[in-house]
Amino acid sequence: NENKSSNFLRSIILEDLREGKVEEITTRFPPEPNGYLHIGHAKSICLNFGLADEFKGKTNLRFDDTNPVKEDTEYVESIKEDVKWLGFDWDNLFFASDYFAEMHKRAVLLIEKGKAYVCDLSAEEIRKSRGTLTEAGKESPYRNRSVAENLELFERMRQGEFKDGEKVLRAKIDMGSPNINMRDPVLYRIAHATHHNTGDTWCIYPMYDYAHPLEDAIEGITHSICTLEFEDHRPLYDWVVRECEMEHVPHQYEFARLNMTNTVMSKRKLKQLVDEKVVDGWDDPRMPTISGLRRRGYTPEAIRNFAQAIGVARADSVVDSKMLEHFIREDLKLKVSRPMAVIRPLKVVITNYPEGQVERLDADHNKENPEMGKRKIPFSREIYIEQEDFMEVPPPKYHRLYPGNEVRLMDAYFIKCEEVIKDDEGKIIEIRCTYDPETKSGTGFTGRKVKGTIHWVEATQAVPAEFRLYEPLIQDDYINPNSLEIRQGFVEPYMKEAKPQDKFQFPRHGYFNVDPNYTTPESLVLNLIVSLKSSFVI
Ligand code: ATP
Ligand code: MG
Ligand code: MG
Repeated sequence: NENKSSNFLRSIILEDLREGKVEEITTRFPPEPNGYLHIGHAKSICLNFGLADEFKGKTNLRFDDTNPVKEDTEYVESIKEDVKWLGFDWDNLFFASDYFAEMHKRAVLLIEKGKAYVCDLSAEEIRKSRGTLTEAGKESPYRNRSVAENLELFERMRQGEFKDGEKVLRAKIDMGSPNINMRDPVLYRIAHATHHNTGDTWCIYPMYDYAHPLEDAIEGITHSICTLEFEDHRPLYDWVVRECEMEHVPHQYEFARLNMTNTVMSKRKLKQLVDEKVVDGWDDPRMPTISGLRRRGYTPEAIRNFAQAIGVARADSVVDSKMLEHFIREDLKLKVSRPMAVIRPLKVVITNYPEGQVERLDADHNKENPEMGKRKIPFSREIYIEQEDFMEVPPPKYHRLYPGNEVRLMDAYFIKCEEVIKDDEGKIIEIRCTYDPETKSGTGFTGRKVKGTIHWVEATQAVPAEFRLYEPLIQDDYINPNSLEIRQGFVEPYMKEAKPQDKFQFPRHGYFNVDPNYTTPESLVLNLIVSLKSSFVI
């Protein structure tokens, strides 16, 4: 398939299928419901669901909800919504917490086999005694407790007899292992906390490194794909599956996580931005969350195409955030209408146009895609143009409006600036122009040329709109104080019909999305998705 970019996992799966190691693949997307999904998760979603689709396998959506403290059903719901919105459908929906009883049973098995013990050291003491890369670990004084004592203590842990942190269950592997993960890792800890799914049934909870391989094994996952940080955990993953005597043996594969310029890619840090009210929620259009990108105006297609293009590798890298922007431009270019919008309005009166008359001009919805049909735009004696399209004293090579100069109004007439009106403080409040009826667009007028074309909106029927202009939230590792600029301007009257999440291209400004949270029947709020041009090339 020629348009598939590099993906070493595809080769592994092809080989596994060819050699008969697996008959059908099963992947999973295993988010912890402790925040909203971000664009990094989208890479993992597209990868896991994409591979299963390609090889006619299955994908589970599994909530990895083994930590009672940070998890919430609000996150569960948002994650389901985001995965669906991206265009994927899971074969099964599972909660890791549904396996708590099974995991506990396997822990008892480990104890019985002499492969796990209850340890009384504190978290800090355990951390220290596990040593470093250059220094071997030290065995815990509790390591050689009898099986009977371990069984009893573990049961008492489960019964709630001990406080948080008083005891843990540890795997008995090898304190001298060169891999620190194998130095008697903690399998269970005590947490007297109410779990969003299991309530107060449990006060001991499995650690990620113990729980995850069991979840994969229980579900019959064939290819358990995770990010590179877990590469060194793979021996422990395999140890857990083997020593717990799981019937199905899943395998872990690692790929490089998505990192992007000017982008925070961690739920913990994104949650901080929400909690500290730097943004107005997880779905703030400046957030790299799926819900933020959706509200900003990104489409599932653009995100999927982006994920496809960045590919899957085993080396860490940083993707330019302009690449994501490239894909939304590409997706919207031929799909959306291109009405005119004036973001910083300046009134223009066309003195030789008859008072009270309004004519309706024809214009394409999208000049690059004539199949989208035509729209009508009103034109009259009063219009708005952009403030920056007029200068009283123009610099060299300025071809827009200035006293005595003539420009083309997009899809309308030539106008010439005759007079500048100012208020008492000298601020320009109005421009007076004349128009030339001969120059009407579409009539083939060739009598003379002008160098500038500007956009405009007829004043009496203009629809007021709020424009929300964005810059990156994070720049050079700092919060950008100018990440949001709000402007009150106007759009063409036909945009009165615009619905939340409708998308447009405003000539010379960029692509915009109708904000679903702030737009009401009375007020239209538009989010800048992305500007029109970029130096970015693929
Ligand atoms: P975060 O650090 O943002 O909290 P996480 O890895 O802890 O991310 P999980 O909910 O555990 O979040 O992630 C679910 C899945 O998404 C995991 O399989 C993880 O590997 C993957 N994932 C998370 N972040 C990225 C990323 N930046 N690029 C690719 N995959 C990611
Ligand atoms: Mg995680
Ligand atoms: Mg995390």
